[in-house]
Amino acid sequence: MTDRVFNFSAGPATLPVSVLEQAQSEMLNYKGAGMSVMEMSHRSKAFESIIQHAEADLRALLNIPENYKVLFLQGGASLQFAMVPMNLLPKGKSADYILTGSWGQGAFKEAKKLGAVREAATTAGSNFNRLPGPEEVKLDEGAAYVHFTSNETIFGVEFDEEPATGDVPLVCDMSSDFISRPIDVSKYGLIYAGAQKNAGPAGATIVIVRDDLLERVPEGLPAMLDYRNMAKNGSMYNTPPCYAIYICGLVFKWLINGIGGLEKMHALNKEKAKILYDAIDSSDGYYRGHAEKACRSLMNVTLRLPSEELENKFVKEATAVGLDGLKGHRSVGGLRASIYNAFPKAGVEKLVEFMNAFQKNSG
Ligand code: PMP
Repeated sequence: MTDRVFNFSAGPATLPVSVLEQAQSEMLNYKGAGMSVMEMSHRSKAFESIIQHAEADLRALLNIPENYKVLFLQGGASLQFAMVPMNLLPKGKSADYILTGSWGQGAFKEAKKLGAVREAATTAGSNFNRLPGPEEVKLDEGAAYVHFTSNETIFGVEFDEEPATGDVPLVCDMSSDFISRPIDVSKYGLIYAGAQKNAGPAGATIVIVRDDLLERVPEGLPAMLDYRNMAKNGSMYNTPPCYAIYICGLVFKWLINGIGGLEKMHALNKEKAKILYDAIDSSDGYYRGHAEKACRSLMNVTLRLPSEELENKFVKEATAVGLDGLKGHRSVGGLRASIYNAFPKAGVEKLVEFMNAFQKNSG
């Protein structure tokens, strides 16, 4: 494995090597089917078993209650920005959005085209380097739902607890911290996540939705955009993203059998993030974290150097030694180290070593 780099990409992102190896070994002949998963009918027994096991393992991992449906859809989290209001925001009602970064803003902008929405809180004023305190969140008790983004991938701010919304259903874009830690699914009305960070390859979007919310879905939506239709057909109204679902299934198995569940995964994620944040905090201000300490993401570590010139030099030299994908998003600048579930601790340690040497040589 010496020719694999440490891949800090924000997504699509690094996958467990054991999952890639299993996919490789099953590529030409999946369990005696004489073909790869990419080539088989989605109506075949073999694929039916793949999607059923993927769902069962995800249910086990997240302890998903029975009154929730699990859907494997397409169109990315971005399509969910539109599907959520199309399905869950009836005429005459409005929805609340808590804005803590660009992805939340994107969801809000899309929802605005489709119904009445309110900004319940925003931290745009501080370039999304923090989360709003409970007193800053102005909720409408009659809202159809409250939408928030549990981890803002670009700014690196993460909620460690869901906002309290009383009886108003909570809708969460969990794309970049999905299955990185245990959560209480019963606190949510709907969770969605693009797969390409923690769950698998791009192409599958996972939606977990409480049954009673499906009753709200209005008649007449296009079939592909209708949660009730997708749920009724077990995500197979049309050809699902078969290969992506297969890899997600392997990742869920890796989390269960290889890692030992989400408590263990969370502990590992905290350990990795601490190594990196400690390095930032002990650099005498040479490295500066973007997010306030209380809301630092365990998944996306965002930081600045003393100048843009040094940041460019850092990225270039890091890439040359196999530390790949560290350039920050243009709206924050600086560096971003995405250290999702499958990102190895050894890569974080190598980055910290590199940071210390870089500071010494360039500071
Ligand atoms: N929400 C969040 C939190 C994200 O990180 C991303 C992608 N980086 C998106 C939404 C958009 O996802 P997609 O590209 O799957 O539409």
